[in-house]
Amino acid sequence: MRATRAIIHLDHFGGNFQAIRERIGSERQICVPVKADAYGHGALRIARAALETGASCLAVATVGEGTELREGGVKIPILLLSQPLYGEIPGILKAGLTPFVSDAAFADALNREAAAAGLKLPVHLKIDTGMGRMGCSPAEAPALARFIAGCSNSRSCSDSQGCTALDYAGTATHLAVADSAAPEDIDYTQKQIECFKETLAGIQSAGLNPGIVHAANSGAVLLHPNAWFDMVRPGILLYGYKAEEPSLFAPLQVKPVMELRTNVVFIKKVKKGETLSYGRTWTAPQDTNAAVLPVGYGDGLPRLVSNKWQVYICGRAYPLVGRICMDQCLADLGPETNVRLWDEVTVFGGDAPDAAVLAERIGTIPYEITCNINKRVPRVYEN
Ligand SMILES: *Cc1c(COP(=O)(O)O)cnc(C)c1O
Repeated sequence: MRATRAIIHLDHFGGNFQAIRERIGSERQICVPVKADAYGHGALRIARAALETGASCLAVATVGEGTELREGGVKIPILLLSQPLYGEIPGILKAGLTPFVSDAAFADALNREAAAAGLKLPVHLKIDTGMGRMGCSPAEAPALARFIAGCSNSRSCSDSQGCTALDYAGTATHLAVADSAAPEDIDYTQKQIECFKETLAGIQSAGLNPGIVHAANSGAVLLHPNAWFDMVRPGILLYGYKAEEPSLFAPLQVKPVMELRTNVVFIKKVKKGETLSYGRTWTAPQDTNAAVLPVGYGDGLPRLVSNKWQVYICGRAYPLVGRICMDQCLADLGPETNVRLWDEVTVFGGDAPDAAVLAERIGTIPYEITCNINKRVPRVYEN
């Protein structure tokens, strides 16, 4: 195996799951988002860990992601969060995914193809209460719910015999600023939750059962207990990162699941005044030693952190110096160093600052850092 690898601490994942479980109580379900290869952690292995620890469903963004999980033997429900093309409906049926439905045309298409295939397809109604992305408007929700439930009059369904091919299994919304404790964001989230509750009441008063009701992402697990409903969908929290958390509860203890490691593959002396790497952005301020590390932006280490990060070797920090290249970067070891060739290096996570700290350095979020650690980097699973 090459030097650069992502250690995936499954024990941390399990601990994070338990911490969330304790917070939300045993009566609620936990849906584990494993989209984008489980935020870069490896969807199938995370799915298995999630099953072992008691997840009741998984969530993906694409039909391909859901299909891979089914091929890997996953049996529990898999929510399809993003809108697919109609041409992907056969794939949805084949993999037995549970799509979010935001409009009647898509519900109708699903219904017809499921009926033709002789299948009953579970779907969740998605309501846009203020995220401004997918979802029907709150005003449209009761009618769409009725349509999905097959309780609409049969003329609104293009094939009256196919009207029962959908199973109205759940109702969801998504929150735009649930991870922020700023007063105006707390207000906005509470307005979204209120709107969702009112819309649910409308659906219920139309005589329909909304199924599993869910709204909470990681931010809402931390900050908005009234968004927990029947199920929560925390992603980033399960992978070990959390936003600010004022003293609503005792702090939730989560640990980063991903650690990026490599090894020193070359050490050399650098004279005062010499420059390192492309663009000559770093000039040695004194005679020093530099280490070459075989990791670069081609692995997903952002080029923007050039000259803005430090790696850890034997528990000590060493600054990355010069531009990060596609496959390599350099660390300044200082004039006197105990670092030796082949020593192990932690780039982030583990005993180094985690992906959230790295993200903040360059104005992004930990999601983007872990998602971008790409398939050239082998994942090593540790318990
Ligand atoms: C990605 C996603 C989540 C998880 O979000 P986190 O911020 O990682 O907790 C939940 N729900 C939907 C609809 C999503 O797309």
